[in-house]
Amino acid sequence: MVENNKLGVLNTPIQYVKGVGPKLSKLFEKISIFNVMDLLLTPPRRYEDRANIPNISSITAGTLVTVKGKVLYTDTKKTRTGMSITKVLVSDGTGKIALVWFNQPWLGKKLNNYEGDIIAYGTAREPGTDFFLEIHSPEWEPLDDDGTEENFAKIVPIYPLTEGLSSKLFRRVILNALDIYGTHIQDALPAAIRRKHQLVHLKDALHTIHNPSSLKDIDVARKRLVVEEFLYLQLGLTLQKLSTKQEVGFSNKIDSSLLEDIQNRLPFQLTNAQNKVIHEIWNDMSRPYPMNRLVQGDVGSGKTVVAFAAMLAAVKCGHQVALMAPTEILASQHATNLEKLFADHNIEIGLLIGKMRKKERTQLLDKVLCGTLPVLVGTHAIIQDSVAFNKLGLVVIDEQHRFGVLQRAKLYEKSSTKPDVLVMTATPIPRTLTMAFYGDLDLSIIDELPAGRKPIVTHLKRHNEQRIVFNGVKKLIDEGRQAYFICPLIEESEKLQAKAATELYDLLANDIYPNCNIGLLHSQMKREEKEEIMEQFRNKDLDILVSTVVIEVGVDVPNASIMVIMDANRFGLSQLHQLRGRVGRGEHQSFCILMADSRIGEAKDRLDIMTGTNDGFKIAEADLRIRGPGEIMGTKQSGEIQFRIADLVKDADMVEATKQIVEELLEEGVHHSRHNYPDIYQNLEDRKIKLAYASIS
Ligand code: ADP
Ligand code: MG
Repeated sequence: MVENNKLGVLNTPIQYVKGVGPKLSKLFEKISIFNVMDLLLTPPRRYEDRANIPNISSITAGTLVTVKGKVLYTDTKKTRTGMSITKVLVSDGTGKIALVWFNQPWLGKKLNNYEGDIIAYGTAREPGTDFFLEIHSPEWEPLDDDGTEENFAKIVPIYPLTEGLSSKLFRRVILNALDIYGTHIQDALPAAIRRKHQLVHLKDALHTIHNPSSLKDIDVARKRLVVEEFLYLQLGLTLQKLSTKQEVGFSNKIDSSLLEDIQNRLPFQLTNAQNKVIHEIWNDMSRPYPMNRLVQGDVGSGKTVVAFAAMLAAVKCGHQVALMAPTEILASQHATNLEKLFADHNIEIGLLIGKMRKKERTQLLDKVLCGTLPVLVGTHAIIQDSVAFNKLGLVVIDEQHRFGVLQRAKLYEKSSTKPDVLVMTATPIPRTLTMAFYGDLDLSIIDELPAGRKPIVTHLKRHNEQRIVFNGVKKLIDEGRQAYFICPLIEESEKLQAKAATELYDLLANDIYPNCNIGLLHSQMKREEKEEIMEQFRNKDLDILVSTVVIEVGVDVPNASIMVIMDANRFGLSQLHQLRGRVGRGEHQSFCILMADSRIGEAKDRLDIMTGTNDGFKIAEADLRIRGPGEIMGTKQSGEIQFRIADLVKDADMVEATKQIVEELLEEGVHHSRHNYPDIYQNLEDRKIKLAYASIS
């Protein structure tokens, strides 16, 4: 229990750390620092080697520099456009350099007649009109009261800036915390494991990261802290997985001739990958514990039929099954296809979505409750409390990345015996992310596209090349194909988005293609209308479908062979990949035209990747690099799990190393003996990671 007390000290609320108090604590809490350990685990953003600050006279343009000196004068001017420019000239005796800020006139006032030294950091640029090198919008701090000399001959950590919290204040508070609580820091990892992986003690790592004596010590310390972050996430998920395997689930006796039966009903031959994954799933379903499996496969790899095979098997074994999809369009498409595939088996399919007539809904839910309805397909309406099953045996979640982790959890609660769970995602998740975020799931990968698919050809066009694009689309329509036009993304408002779609529709219907049949689809339309339009497009009554991103996921019309995405630069990479995945689903050569005028910086990188590859995994890796894991994993997940130190891109190898550490801990029996590893279990709880996942299964 002594151990726990020591850990308890590290849970001291931030308010009571020397130098904080009730007012400042609010600011710390804003950046999710609630207690001592949160504080200590917040790493500096960078370091400044103040032992080696260059003379201003030796600085050349284009280099990232730290300068130290006294303010000579300040000068604030207004430009004709109304912007204010503040210039502060600083000298260190060897030379002068200008610090420049835009629209921050108060800085000029503050630094005018400033007596002490200031220190600033930024990239030196070519001289302005007054011949001095400039640093635009530098970071800076005064060097007045915290022992200039002493603070100079060393490496100074610079912390993330938040309104009201200067880096200097941060530094002082952290040093206080290390001073007072530092001796209580335990390392929950057994020494042998640490030795094996060359990890320093957590206490040393924290001291070093906040107070390094040389720059080269930092990497070693950082490595220990990255493992600390990954460890509890990965261990938590693994423990979750193990405990699921100890629970009682259904063991289904699946008749293997069922596969033949399914195959016979399909107009195509299942790929090897599909066969393999169906077997993996059925194998799980026949085991006595609940299945928890993630099926990954690029857009168009044919995940749907794999899910249907799982569903059919479960129904044949006497269970009810639920299939949850992220959009109404996709849910009703699944329901229609299921009806076709299950036709001869005499299996009734129910569709549950948000807006239904009350009577219709009640009838449906009654049948679900008394178990006479074997298959329920729907949107997240399925997880509402009013939906209760009689004998739920399998839950399938399509496009899992669209749902939060907790939504995943809610479905599992709908049954006394744990149902089997199958989640499918079309966003190819880089391996590291899978390991870090889906460690509670077994993984099946459909790594093969159906035979005969031709790679989609993607072109980048400017809006003034519109005519050429429109003509190209017309030619394909004349050959019997169909086309999608995706209107610009407007994230702020569904209404504005609908307006944009309507405008594009008007343009195409009235001016460009007066002789074509064109349909319009957006989220503000009634469900019946949406379904009607989709049905018409599927039946080839429409040549062109103008749509918002509502068709982003799942929609399957193989005769559509061209997609034009307006203002493509507004979309994220994974989103573009999903959208593009609506074409190239049949035997026809397919095209994707990205219309974009602004092709600078990050947007250009993105569009170039799209024209360069159709490989979803490559695109996801790139997306991860460009936007970080939060976006890819869905905002929900990123809200639940945030890394302070680890960087899933840079630290991919540490995810791997941590996986090994988890395995070693399991070999030692960490999952059997909570009381032998009190610190580890305490940390699992403290870091809240366990909590985010506790209700999953
Ligand atoms: P996704 O993996 O994106 O969900 P779907 O399951 O919607 O893909 O399948 C995409 C298209 O490919 C559908 O039209 C489907 O009927 C078809 N399809 C699935 N499997 C095969 C296969 N083995 N051979 C040919 N076409 C297939
Ligand atoms: Mg799909």
